[in-house]
Amino acid sequence: MSNDSLTAEAALQKILDITPLMQEYEDLDLVQAMGRILFEDVKAGMDSPPFRNSAMDGFAFRHCDLSGGRALRLNGKSLAGHPSTGLRQDGDCIRITTGAMVPEWADTVVMQENTNLLGDQLHVTQVPAKGDNIREAGTNMRHGELLVPAGDRLGASQLAVLGSAGLTRVRVLRKLRVVIFSTGDELVDPGSSLKAGQIYDSNRLLLTGLLMSPSIEVLDLGICADDKQSLSKVMQEAMDADIAISSGGVSVGDADFVKEVLDQNGKLSMWKILMKPGRPLSAGVLNSGTRFFGLPGNPVSGIVTFKLFVIPAIRKMLGMEQIPLLTMQARCNDALSKDPGRQEYQRGILSQSEEGEWTVSTTGLQDSHVLTSMSEANCFINLPLASAGVAAGETVQVIPFSSFNHQF
Ligand code: AMP
Ligand code: MG
Repeated sequence: MSNDSLTAEAALQKILDITPLMQEYEDLDLVQAMGRILFEDVKAGMDSPPFRNSAMDGFAFRHCDLSGGRALRLNGKSLAGHPSTGLRQDGDCIRITTGAMVPEWADTVVMQENTNLLGDQLHVTQVPAKGDNIREAGTNMRHGELLVPAGDRLGASQLAVLGSAGLTRVRVLRKLRVVIFSTGDELVDPGSSLKAGQIYDSNRLLLTGLLMSPSIEVLDLGICADDKQSLSKVMQEAMDADIAISSGGVSVGDADFVKEVLDQNGKLSMWKILMKPGRPLSAGVLNSGTRFFGLPGNPVSGIVTFKLFVIPAIRKMLGMEQIPLLTMQARCNDALSKDPGRQEYQRGILSQSEEGEWTVSTTGLQDSHVLTSMSEANCFINLPLASAGVAAGETVQVIPFSSFNHQF
């Protein structure tokens, strides 16, 4: 086994270097495409709005007809969906509603509140500038304009934009197939009783939750025992997937037999990453082309390595851009202990005072098995490699968990 020690940054680069872009797609109705990743650029095939229309309920007229403070004569109407068809004479106006077509001859709309209608005589009490309250054709989108770029995740606004261009179907990346499994003789599923030395498997729940996305299909292969035969078998099953994610079995104690099984099934590296939690990590490619991530067994390490390494890899496979993590500075309310040499992602609770100052408190015990340190936290406190701890009151960098929302 290689004794590679890598910084978190270098490990991410190595992972991205071997991660391919998925090239398969499917065509879906717009509603089914919600939350999926667009496969190719979509351009507008038309102008929208397709015609000049009113931005207000009011009256449409020709601005020069108002000269000398003259009243206008009401002669017809244009309602949304029902354009005016009447003939016009000089000094005419028509009643118009929001979104209704403005007749070619009219150049201005006055809002109803700024008028006074007596019989068919319209007095404009507050004169708008020429061209006011008219939405020109093509001001929402122009024919040929890029509407949504490839790699964007289709949310409600994107779907509405595509629909307003008259589209009914859209080409998206096919779903990624991801298999997950846990390794460990000590693991049992919640629901059965624990015998001496056993614990409940939390990592498959963790991974299922982290992977929940319209772009991903998760297949849960269960718990794999710590022996070569079981591991070989589950690795074979994993070969049908685009990505396989295991947890446990990559620390030094397990490494020898895991390494042997991995070598038979693909080209994988095992790294010691200079970070805490999440030091051991295995990554590579199975013989089938499946991308493999062997995450550490400790649940907190699993979450941290998933967020830092697996999310960017999935984004790359889906053709999404990499986005830098949102970071901010906050005053730390507590002293934090740390040894230099590893980057630490401690868990914190970030809050803002009434004066607007951001402060962060620790969640307490930072051991990597303390899963509640994650569930109670709302941010990572990111302490650099060289840091030897933090005194209460010092400023630290934090990464709010919201940076990881809607990642794919
Ligand atoms: P390992 O990486 O297999 O050496 O496991 C490291 C620690 O994480 C051990 O204390 C394991 O019992 C624990 N662990 C491993 N897998 C899981 C899991 N799926 N759920 C909860 N704890 C786990
Ligand atoms: Mg284990």
